[in-house]
Amino acid sequence: MDFENFFDSALTGLQDTGNYRSFNDIERHCGNMPRASRYCVDGECRDITVWCSNDYLGMGQNPSVIKEMQYVLERCGAGSGGTRNISGTNHYHVILEKLLAKLHGKESALLFTSGYVSNWASLGTLASKIPDLIVYSDELNHASMIEGLRHSRCEKRIWKHNSPEDLERLMREDDPNAPKLVAFESVYSMDGDIAPIAAICDVADKYGAMTYLDEVHAVGMYGPHGGGIAEREGLMDRISIIEGTLGKAFGVLGGYITGSERVCDFVRSFSSGFIFTTALPPAVAAGAAESIRHLMDSGTERLRHKNRVNEVRRQLDRVGIPHLENPSHIIPVIVGDAKKCKWISDLLLDSYGIYVQPINYPTVPVGTERLRITPSPLHSDEDIRHLVSALSDIWSQCALARVAA
Ligand SMILES: *Cc1c(COP(=O)(O)O)cnc(C)c1O
Repeated sequence: MDFENFFDSALTGLQDTGNYRSFNDIERHCGNMPRASRYCVDGECRDITVWCSNDYLGMGQNPSVIKEMQYVLERCGAGSGGTRNISGTNHYHVILEKLLAKLHGKESALLFTSGYVSNWASLGTLASKIPDLIVYSDELNHASMIEGLRHSRCEKRIWKHNSPEDLERLMREDDPNAPKLVAFESVYSMDGDIAPIAAICDVADKYGAMTYLDEVHAVGMYGPHGGGIAEREGLMDRISIIEGTLGKAFGVLGGYITGSERVCDFVRSFSSGFIFTTALPPAVAAGAAESIRHLMDSGTERLRHKNRVNEVRRQLDRVGIPHLENPSHIIPVIVGDAKKCKWISDLLLDSYGIYVQPINYPTVPVGTERLRITPSPLHSDEDIRHLVSALSDIWSQCALARVAA
C-alpha cells in the first residue's frame, strides 16, 4: 500500500469539506489576559485577543496559582517520577484528591491526567467490570464518554438529549434486575444548555441506577463554592459519580472523579487508564489545588464573568447577530456552514486580531457550524465593543442573516 498517498487523500477529503483543522500558533501573555501573540505563517508575530479559551475565569494566570506552582516546582522538581503505584504518588496529589472530594461533598476522589482520560477510563472500567451493566447515555455526551463505553463493549442505550422521559421509556423496557448506570453532562459545551439533573436522578432512582455526571464545563463556574451545577441545585448527594476537569475553569491540567470511597477505590484498582500511566507533575496538582481553594472562597471571578457574558449577549442583540439562547456562559453564534464559518474566523483573526476558533463537524452536527464565544472576567468593555463591531462588519460584508433587535 502507498501509505503516504492514503494519508494525503484522507486529508484532502477533510479540506474539501472545510473540516480540516488548522492550529493557531499562539503565545499567551501571563498577566495580560485575554491578550496573546500569534506566530503567523509569514514569520511575523501579531498581538491578538483570545475569545475562545476554556480558561473561563483566567485562573491559569492567577498570581496565587502561579506562585504555588513555582514553589512546588522548586520544592519537588518537574515530574512526578512514576505511576501512582510505583513511586509517583506525591503528597500534592493526596492533598488535591482530598480537596476534590470536599468540593463535591463526596467521600473520595481519584485523579487522572486529563478529563478525557477520567471519563474514558472510569466509564470504560465500570461498564466492562460490572456484570451485565446497561449504560444509558445522553445522545450528546462528550467523545470521551462515548469512547469509554465503546471500549467496554457494554449494553448501551442512547437517550434523547436532556429528556428524562426518553430515558424512562428506555429503562422501562429493560430487565428490572439488570444493573444500570445513567451517564450525562451538566453544561453541554457546544449549545451551552443545562441538563435537568433532578428529573434525571428521579428516573435513575426509580430504576435503581447509578448516576455519572460530567461537570467539566461547570466546575469552578457554578455553585457557591464552584462545585458545579449539582452544587448550585443542591443535588450533589444524588449523583453517584461526579467527574470534572482541572484544565478549564481551574486553569491547569488534569481530570478526576469523585464518589464513594469504594467506587473510587474500585476504579483505582481496576482501571488500566489510571494504573499504567505517569502521575501528574506535583506542581500541576498543587496549582490546581490552589485554584480550587481560591474559587471555593471567592465568588468575585464568577460574578464578573457573568457580567461579561451578559454584556456580550446584550451587544450582540443590539446589532442583531444571532446567538443561541441558553442558561450558561457559552455564547454560540451559529453560521451553519463549515467553509463560511472558517472564513469568518480567518477574517476575524487576520483583519481584526480577534481569535474565535470555528467549531465544525464532528464536534457539532453538519449545518450547525458555529463560532463559540467564551468571554472571561478579563475582557474589557473595549474588547467587547471591538468584537461586536467586527462581527457586525463581517455580517454586512457577507450578507448574513440578522435577527430583529
Ligand atoms: C473538554 C471536555 C472533557 C475533557 O476534559 P480535558 O481535561 O480537556 O481532557 C470531558 N468532557 C467534556 C464535556 C469536555 O468538554
